[in-house]
Amino acid sequence: MLLAVHYAEIGLKGRNRPRFEQGLAQNLKRQLAPLARVRVRRLFGRLLVELDGDPTLETLRERIGRVFGVAYWSVATVCDPDLVSIEKAVDEFTAQESFASFGVRARRADKTHPYTSSELARHLGARVQAASGARVDLGDPELWIEIHVLSREAILLHKRQPGPGGMPVGSAGRVLSMISGGIDSPVASWLMLKRGCALRYVHFHSSPFTSPASQEKVRDLVARLARHQGPVTLFLAPFAEIQQVLVSEAPAEPRIVLYRRFMLRVAEALARRERALGIVTGESLGQVSSQTLGNMDTINRAATLPVLRPLVGFDKAEIIEQARAIGTFEISIEPDEDCCSYLMPRKPATWTRPEPIAQIEAQLDV
Ligand code: ATP
Ligand code: MG
Repeated sequence: MLLAVHYAEIGLKGRNRPRFEQGLAQNLKRQLAPLARVRVRRLFGRLLVELDGDPTLETLRERIGRVFGVAYWSVATVCDPDLVSIEKAVDEFTAQESFASFGVRARRADKTHPYTSSELARHLGARVQAASGARVDLGDPELWIEIHVLSREAILLHKRQPGPGGMPVGSAGRVLSMISGGIDSPVASWLMLKRGCALRYVHFHSSPFTSPASQEKVRDLVARLARHQGPVTLFLAPFAEIQQVLVSEAPAEPRIVLYRRFMLRVAEALARRERALGIVTGESLGQVSSQTLGNMDTINRAATLPVLRPLVGFDKAEIIEQARAIGTFEISIEPDEDCCSYLMPRKPATWTRPEPIAQIEAQLDV
C-alpha cells in the first residue's frame, strides 16, 4: 500500500527543508512501524510512504493523526507520467468507487510534460464523465480525482485525509515542560509538541506527605502525550523538604509564589542539564491568584531561561475543550493530591513584587 503525505509550513523553510522533511519522515516511520514494514521516500515536496501491508483507513487515521507536520495525506497510486498510464490509473480507481458527482484536480511539479494541468483535468473529466455518467461538480463533489504529475511519475490521490497540522516534533528544539496533574499543563505541552518541540517533563511531588496519586496521573498524562513523540523522560522531583522549610519559615500569603519560584529554579537547572532552551507551563493570565501579571513577573525572575506559556490567552472553557479533544481531560479530572494544594494559605497573595520576595528568600535556610 502506498501513501502520499503532504506538509504545509515545512515547505516554507528554504534550505532547512531537508532537515524538516527528514524529521517528518522519521516520525511517520516510528508511528507506522508497528503496523507494517515502512519505507519513506522524499519526492518534490511530499513524502511517499510504502507500507508492506494493508492497515485499515481507521488505523492509519489514528496513527498519522499523531504525527505533527502532516497537513493532509491520502492512499495513493503511482504510475508513469504519460497520458495513457494516467488514464489507466484513473480508470482503475474510479471503477472501484460509486459517485454521482466528481471533480478533477491536476497539478504539475514538472512543466515539461506535453499537457498543461488544466488540459489534463479537462481531458480526465470528460473521460470519467463518459464512463460513469456522473456529473462534474468542482464545488463539493462526492469524489475528488486528484492527480499530481512529477518528472518521472504521476501520483493519484485516492481521498484526502486531514492531518493534525503543526511542525514535526523535534524540529523546533527541546523544552522542559512543568507538568502537574491538572487540566492546563498537559494542553500546554501538547501545543508545544504541535509547534515542533521535543519535550522533557518535570513533576514536583510532596511524597511522603501526599499520596502517590498525582505521580500516577502525571505518568498517565505523559504517556498520552508521548504518543506524538515516542519514548520520553519524566523527572519526578521531590518537593516536600523545601515546602516544609517554606511553611515553617516564610509568611503564608506569598507561599504559592515562593513554591513556584523554587520549582522554576529546579526546572531551570534540569533544563540546562538536558540542553533544553525553554520551560513550559500551563499558566493562563488571571486564572488563579498566582497567575496575575504581578505574580508571573515575580516568578519569572527566579530564572533566566524563557518561560513559555502557550495558554496565556486562553479561557478555561477553551482549555477544557482542547483537553477533551486531545484525550487528557479524562485523566486530569481523576482525583489526586497536588503538591500545591498541600498547605495552601487561606488568603494567597494576588500581586507580589520580586524585591520583597527575594528578601524573604534570603532569610531561608535552603
Ligand atoms: P494545571 O491545570 O496545569 O495544574 P493550574 O491552573 O492548576 O494548572 P497552577 O496550579 O497555578 O495552575 O499551576 C500553574 C503551572 O505551574 C501549571 O500549569 C504547571 O505548568 C506548573 N505546576 C504547578 N504545579 C506543578 C507541579 N506539581 N509540578 C510541575 N509543575 C507544576
Ligand atoms: Mg494545578
